[in-house]
Amino acid sequence: MQITKRDFLKKLGLGGAAFAAGAAFGDEYVPDMSKLPEGSCGDPQNVWFGKHIFPLDHTMKDLPSAFLKDGRVFQPARELPIFHETDVVVVGGGPAGFSAAVSAARTGAKVALVERYGSLGGLFTNGMVLVVLATCANRGGKWNLVTRGVCEELMLRAGKLGKTFCSLPEPAYPQKHWQPTIDPEAAKVIMDEMIAENKVEMFFHSWGVDVIQDGDSVKGVVFESKQGRQAILAKQVVDCTGDADMLFLAGGDYSQVTCPISTVFRWANMDTINPPQGTKPQFPLHGNEGNPDARWGHCGMRTGNGLSVRDLSRLEVAFRRKNWNDVLEMRKTPGWENVYTSNSASQIGPRQSRLIAAEYVMGRKEIVEENDKFADCIGWCGVDGPHKAFRVSYRQILPKKVENLLCAGRCLGKGDSIDTFRLIAPCFMTGQAAGVAAGLAAQKGVAPRALAYSDIAKALDAQGVYHE
Ligand SMILES: Cc1cc2nc3c(=O)[nH]c(=O)nc-3n(C[C@H](O)[C@H](O)[C@H](O)COP(=O)(O)OP(=O)(O)OC[C@H]3O[C@@H](n4cnc5c(N)ncnc54)[C@H](O)[C@@H]3O)c2cc1C
Repeated sequence: MQITKRDFLKKLGLGGAAFAAGAAFGDEYVPDMSKLPEGSCGDPQNVWFGKHIFPLDHTMKDLPSAFLKDGRVFQPARELPIFHETDVVVVGGGPAGFSAAVSAARTGAKVALVERYGSLGGLFTNGMVLVVLATCANRGGKWNLVTRGVCEELMLRAGKLGKTFCSLPEPAYPQKHWQPTIDPEAAKVIMDEMIAENKVEMFFHSWGVDVIQDGDSVKGVVFESKQGRQAILAKQVVDCTGDADMLFLAGGDYSQVTCPISTVFRWANMDTINPPQGTKPQFPLHGNEGNPDARWGHCGMRTGNGLSVRDLSRLEVAFRRKNWNDVLEMRKTPGWENVYTSNSASQIGPRQSRLIAAEYVMGRKEIVEENDKFADCIGWCGVDGPHKAFRVSYRQILPKKVENLLCAGRCLGKGDSIDTFRLIAPCFMTGQAAGVAAGLAAQKGVAPRALAYSDIAKALDAQGVYHE
């Protein structure tokens, strides 16, 4: 069916004046015969924009600047405005942080979530790493989903939108593993919905830069935004920054590693590829996306320090160039002429950086030798390559030394187990457990370390988490 330009613009919600002017796709001048509303200080000859422009009191007061003394730079001490008070504040809105915020709210706690970018999902969505790995265990040849709770809910909600957005279990399931690939925009919107449904206060564009501390106890966080540096007071803090930023700022113990770093790109028109008969594709068709014209993938890994601005800046440029060259090369290949880069991840992907010193750090040895003995299981990591599914202990998310702080996500594990803990489904799972524990601790007025496991288990059960 042919669609007219008017119909197309209507579908986009851009009818009327925009259509009459034949414009609407950019900031081109659009005639608008109305008057500027009272108080507007916009251009009376450009009402389309002008009606949005009003004078505003300054968002921030001028503050004493940093200064140079004897060749060194100092910043004057200052009082910080208290922006918000809550039971639980979660810093970082990746799989772990999103899950922690929703789960803490479901215990009945008042929750705030602080995220440095403008959308949820971290490396999963903004990093465009789309396949949710380590979801299932294999028992007697059948696959069972073990990362239940928030992870399962998100996957099912995405699946209901249609197979373009999320690959549902194949008809062969449970004979075949279910590790869905989820469209990043669908995932972001579902996460926004779940945050709103659970009444979590969401603060985007806010970078957690310090903790508020009293001895070993954390009492909230400091964040930086276009509104300056402000404080959030909280009974419990959950660090889901991926890099254990809050643990570091609280003086907690950790080790630091380099890691393979990659940037993910997404290519379009992959369904138009029509190589001449008898030729093999020179380029990988990986990605397994529901959307037939799109494929995601990264163009290699480089070793780096995920906390180093210099490493991250250098690698952003190198990966962008590599992808550009690869795509130009692809387009020279007969049958691949229309392939192009539809988007590049807005977030570069360091796989690890800081690894927390938890009460109990599970490496492969502990997983193999002690897994059946845990009396404090908070959930399971699913099968990952050669590694079996395994139970995770509550002590794994409890940092040593620092009180009122829990950590979840890709900062867990050690050398030989980090490659499972960092996968998306395990991050949802550890995030959920940290959220539940923080919510309970805040409401009971105790430190997470002092919680009875029976209370945590009851709350996990109520949220449908598998933790036998
Ligand atoms: C290239 C690549 C490929 C991968 N492939 C897969 C795969 O195929 N399948 C799979 O399951 N996993 C894969 N992973 C791993 C997985 O994507 C991540 O480990 C997982 O998303 C980590 O979740 P997280 O919540 O712990 O951290 P992140 O996803 O890193 O989220 C952390 C969040 O915190 C925010 N943040 C950080 N610091 C601050 C701060 N100071 N203040 C406020 N906000 C902050 C970030 O913006 C981000 O939103 C891959 C990773 C990479 C890099």
